[in-house]
Amino acid sequence: MAQAHAVFGDPRLASLWLEKSIWNDDRIICPKCGGDRIKRTNERKSPYRCRVTKCRHRFSLKIGSPMEAQTFPSIIG
Ligand SMILES: [Zn+2]
Repeated sequence: MAQAHAVFGDPRLASLWLEKSIWNDDRIICPKCGGDRIKRTNERKSPYRCRVTKCRHRFSLKIGSPMEAQTFPSIIG
């Protein structure tokens, strides 16, 4: 599990891992409207914003993901 420690030891790296494993850069989907026109922002809490005019939903990648209900320590064991 040494490799998992290397990945999850840094929360920022863990976030990047989530991003790469769940969504590809061009396949991020808005959890509210399902649109795929997503813009990155500089905000930490909601780094993504839906570009659909009637939506404009802000969200992070952890929302609605399978990882949400899990904790990293349980994965690292
Ligand atoms: Zn949307």
